[in-house]
Amino acid sequence: MDNGRHVRSEMLLFAAGRMGNTDGLNLKSVGLETDHRGRLSVERKTYQTEVPHIYATGDVIGHPSLASTSLQQGRVAACHALETPTLPESPWYPYGIYSVPEMSTCGMSEEELQERGINYEIGVARFRETSRGHIMGLEHGMLKMLISLKTRRVLGVQIVGEGATELIHIGQAVMNLQGTVDYFVQNTFNYPTLAEAYKIAGLDAFNRMPIPDEFKVKKPAAKAAPKAAPKSRAKPAAARADKKASK
Ligand SMILES: Cc1cc2nc3c(=O)[nH]c(=O)nc-3n(C[C@H](O)[C@H](O)[C@H](O)COP(=O)(O)OP(=O)(O)OC[C@H]3O[C@@H](n4cnc5c(N)ncnc54)[C@H](O)[C@@H]3O)c2cc1C
Repeated sequence: MDNGRHVRSEMLLFAAGRMGNTDGLNLKSVGLETDHRGRLSVERKTYQTEVPHIYATGDVIGHPSLASTSLQQGRVAACHALETPTLPESPWYPYGIYSVPEMSTCGMSEEELQERGINYEIGVARFRETSRGHIMGLEHGMLKMLISLKTRRVLGVQIVGEGATELIHIGQAVMNLQGTVDYFVQNTFNYPTLAEAYKIAGLDAFNRMPIPDEFKVKKPAAKAAPKAAPKSRAKPAAARADKKASK
């Protein structure tokens, strides 16, 4: 591998990528060029090509080339073409790999955070730590959450194991709503569920992060010791009364 690592395996899958089937469309006649893979470049907010009334979405514009993102791109492009008001796409979308075990990610990986120089904390939960995991007899599967140390925002979630492609949407929602690790710590989850792995991972990270001031228990200020009364020559009333009575 590039990093000098040797991997021994019985099989190799070589994925060559996809080609846009644009050769036969005579796009040059409308002033459009494609790249070496037959892909078109677009303005990523509206999906307009260099010819503004021609739109392109999906695999033909390249990354991320998913059915899920292609659908959303098509909707945004159609709304733009028809001048129908719509919200922009949410910034974080998930990847799902339907292998055994399933894998799913959303947001940034540790490598991306390091490249961007973002200081982060990691929260990890293993499915076997959840009651649902016990009931299901799961021995494998884990959820990893990456959290900004500065803002406490959740910046990435990676899951491997049972239901990973479903579970990822919880993390995705929190990321798109700019939520923090504190959401997972405070939130109550159904019991027993694999979704509780979010709470476990959240607590795992939370316990290693600086505690914000607003979370600290405010102890009532210690009462100041009463000032020593100035010595008075006047005797206390009770002592005076006693003296009077004995006369
Ligand atoms: C093996 C495999 C597994 C995948 N699994 C997933 C997954 O699990 N989840 C996920 O989100 N994505 C997955 N994808 C990616 C997903 O299938 C694509 O990203 C998605 O289908 C792209 O949608 P599209 O509309 O851009 O292209 P397409 O779905 O390819 O649709 C293009 C259509 O245009 C037609 N067409 C092509 N050329 C012409 C022409 N010249 N004239 C007229 N019609 C034409 C084609 O016949 C086709 O119907 C997978 C892809 C592959 C190859």
